[in-house]
This record gives sequence, structure tokens and C-alpha cells, in this order.
Amino acid sequence: METEPSAAALDSKPLNVSREQVDPNAVDVVAKLKGAGFQAWLVGGCVRDLLLGAHPKDFDVATNATPEQVRGLFRRSRLVGRRFKIAHVRYGRDVIEVSTFRKAPSGDARINGNAKANGLILRDNAYGTLREDAFRRDFTVNALYYDPHEERILDYVGGLEDITRQRLRFIGDARQRLREDPVRLLRAIRFQAKLGFGLDADVDDGRMVAHLREIPGARLFDEFSKMFLGGYAARAWQLLERTPIPGILFPAAPKGTRLVQLAMENTDRRVAAGLPVTPGFLLAVLLWEDFRARAKALSSGPGGAKSGDAAVLAAQSALADQRRIMAMPRRHSHFIQDVWHLQRHLRARRPKRVPKVLQHPKFRAAYDFLLLCADAGLINPTIGQWWTEIQEASADGRDAMINALQPAGRRRGKSPQR
Ligand code: ATP
Ligand code: MG
Repeated sequence: METEPSAAALDSKPLNVSREQVDPNAVDVVAKLKGAGFQAWLVGGCVRDLLLGAHPKDFDVATNATPEQVRGLFRRSRLVGRRFKIAHVRYGRDVIEVSTFRKAPSGDARINGNAKANGLILRDNAYGTLREDAFRRDFTVNALYYDPHEERILDYVGGLEDITRQRLRFIGDARQRLREDPVRLLRAIRFQAKLGFGLDADVDDGRMVAHLREIPGARLFDEFSKMFLGGYAARAWQLLERTPIPGILFPAAPKGTRLVQLAMENTDRRVAAGLPVTPGFLLAVLLWEDFRARAKALSSGPGGAKSGDAAVLAAQSALADQRRIMAMPRRHSHFIQDVWHLQRHLRARRPKRVPKVLQHPKFRAAYDFLLLCADAGLINPTIGQWWTEIQEASADGRDAMINALQPAGRRRGKSPQR
């Protein structure tokens, strides 16, 4: 087996990292791979987080075994991968991701068509050595390797020092790494928000940001979800708003609205409390003003559509435009439309509708959305309070509350929700 030159190998104990902090299943994966004669290391976010004294979300393993060899070693494993093949090793509900050392495509790979002339990487599935695997990673703090048996940390790129300095530093030339993969711009924002580190590069000028347009929509959606569902959405959004990125990812979203900021904070609170969060809710918030403006335009004027029809058309067109940038799975579009359409009914409180609205499968999400609108000053807060009370009321109490509402026909104006 080759020896890998020029990495600093450090005893992990003085760095306060020890085997006991690692998921035993990940330790087992490393042990089995090494027992079969392969190299195997914990890598990436888990090593970084252990060094920061944080609890890693998951433990990833890197090895010189090919995905097929990994598959052969672990009975409960399967190969997955959109951009590159990796093995998932299953332990009950726990999954350890095992990826084969890869190298950054360059030279021949580019000539052979793995990269476009402008440097964008289209495929990066060439296997490599441990050292090459370190250098193809994005940030120095994400390129540390940990052997839980020998309790050694391997650092090719100065990642340990950057962890101490609290700096997020690209491996190699920042601009080149961003041209190779513009998604790294989003990752730079994400890790600044998550880790509270400063970025060692000035990269958010318009030219760099424009390269995000080259990224497939499905990948942008994945990064969007990672960025905002990890418990640091409010910080990430604040950082994003200082860049031109929102104008590319959500061109229809207005700048600096209180509703969006509150939704991000609310999402972080839910993550901290272990409550479910969904990217659909945040997209519903980001696109809300756009949806409203479209619905208004469609229903206004003498030939305008009925407000319900206008809302349906407006939702469809707003989402279709967003999907051209960010490919969200259908269930999210359905969720967003339900949440939007329920807002009309929540605001209108028509007596006959109320019981149906309460039973709607997306009522809870729509109610949360309504409360955010109230907090943001977009609706009268008594409407939100009313829906809070009716959920807490007894059956008789509910009937009384509904009976106390004025019948729709006697209301002033024709569209009470506006
Ligand atoms: P988190 O704990 O928030 O998931 P992470 O560091 O594990 O953070 P992932 O997105 O899970 O982040 O990626 C795992 C590792 O893969 C990273 O630490 C990094 O080394 C590498 N990586 C991921 N995406 C890229 C990329 N676009 N370019 C280069 N390396 C990447
Ligand atoms: Mg990860």
C-alpha cells in the first residue's frame, strides 16, 4: 500500500477528540475496511465538528476500496449516487456513507470532457489517492481525516490551524475552486453561518454569483435545503442578503422583508426543538409576495378572474417560474399551494368553511404561516389569535366561536381576506 507523503499526522487526544465520541457503527465500518486491507478514515464534517467540540450530524468514511468492494464487504449496503457512486452501509436506521477516494478532475480529465472550457466540473468520479481526496475537497476545515483506532488526525491542507483561527479557507485558489463548482459559493455561506467562521476570500461579486445559473436545479434545491434546515437559517439568510445570490436563486422574492427573516428564525427554533421542518414552508414564505402580486394582477380590472381562480393560476405560474431555477419535488409544490390557498380561508373565516379548514391536512402549516404574517404585521393579529383559540376550544366552544362570526353575506366588501 502506498504511503502518503506530506500530511501532518497528529495524536487526536490532545485535540480532545477520542474514539468514544464516534458513532460505534462508523468505527465498525472503519475496522472492517482496514481488516480487509483497505485504508479507511472518518472524513469531512464529522471530524471538523468533533474538533470544534460539536456533535456531528453524521459520520462519513473515506476509503481506497471501490464502491463495489465496499458493497462486497458489507451485507447491508447498497450503492447510491447521483453525481458519483458511494456506498451506504446500514445499521438499523443508521446509515454510514462510505465514499471512495477521488481526485479533482484536471488535465486529461478536462480534455476528455469532464469539465467545460470555463472550468465547470461536469463529472467528478475519477478515483484517487488519500492525498488527492484531501485536495479535491472544498474547504481546509472539511478536509481532515480521523482514524478512530489509532486516534490520529491527518491534515494535508492546514485545516487544523484554520479551525483554531476560525477561518473558512478554500483549498487552493478560491476563484478557480468556485469556477469548478459554483455551488461552493453557497457552501461558503452555509459554513460561515453554521460555524460562525469568517471567510478568507472575497468572492461574492456578480461574476462569481452568475455562475450559479449553470447549476442543475435539483442540486440547487438540495443546497437550499441544507442551507436552511440545519438550524442556522437566520444567520445564513442575513449573510445571503449581503450578496447578489438571492436575486439569482429567488428572483421574485422581495429584499429584506420581515416575513422572511421571521420565518428563518422560526425554522431555527423548530430545529432546536426537534420539530419537523420542510423546505416547502420557506419557499412558500419567499415567494408569498410574488404570488400575491400575481393573484392581484389576474383578478383586477373589468375582465379579471374570480379571486379563487386568480389565486390558483397565480400559484401555478409563480411556482413554475421558480422551478425553472430550483427543481423542487412535486410534493413541495403541492404543499406550497395548499399553504397559500388556505391563507385565504384563514383570513376570511367564513363560518361554513371553518370546520373544513381545521381538518385540512395542511392546516397546521398554514396556521403557522398565518401567525408569521401576523408577527410581520401583514394581518390583524386578532385573526391569528382567533385560530389559536378555536384549536384550544371544546366542541361547544368551537360552535360558539363559529356562530359569533358574521355570515359572509353580511360582511362589508367582497373580498374580506384582502
Ligand atoms: P454538514 O455537517 O453540515 O453536513 P459537511 O462538511 O459534512 O457538513 P456535506 O455537504 O455533508 O458537508 O459534505 C461532506 C464533505 O464532502 C465536505 O466536508 C467536503 O469535504 C466534501 N464536499 C461536499 N461538497 C463539496 C463540493 N461541492 N466541493 C468539494 N468538496 C465537497
Ligand atoms: Mg455531512
